[in-house]
Amino acid sequence: MTKLDCNVTSCLHNSDNYCCKSAIIVEGSQAKDSYDTCCGSFDENKDGSFRNLFKTPESRLEVDCEAVNCVYNEDRHCSAEHIGIAGDGASTAEHTECSTFKTR
Ligand code: SF4
Ligand code: SF4
Repeated sequence: MTKLDCNVTSCLHNSDNYCCKSAIIVEGSQAKDSYDTCCGSFDENKDGSFRNLFKTPESRLEVDCEAVNCVYNEDRHCSAEHIGIAGDGASTAEHTECSTFKTR
C-alpha cells in the first residue's frame, strides 16, 4: 500500500491532507509529466457541508494508476512508497495531479 498525502482540500474525500478512501485511481494513460495526470477519484465538495463527518483518514491506500509512463507504475498499480496528490482549490479532477509522477 502507498502512503498518500493530498492537499486537494476541495475534494469530498479529503480530511487534514489525507484521503479517506481505501483506494483511488490516478488517470493519465498518455501522461509525460505530472500535470498530465489527475486523481480520477476526486469529487468536489461543493459547499463544504460534508466535511469529515463519517470519514477516517487513510494514510496508506491502494493506488491504481493508468499513467504507464511513470517509473513507479507496475501493471497499472502504483509501487511508490509515498505519493503526493496536489491541486489545492481544484473544482474538477483535471485540476489535480500526482506530483510524484516521474517519467520512465
Ligand atoms: S483528490 Fe483523490 S487522493 Fe485527494 S482526497 Fe480526493 S479522492 Fe483522495
Ligand atoms: S507515482 Fe506514478 S504510478 Fe504512482 S500514482 Fe503517481 S503517476 Fe501513478
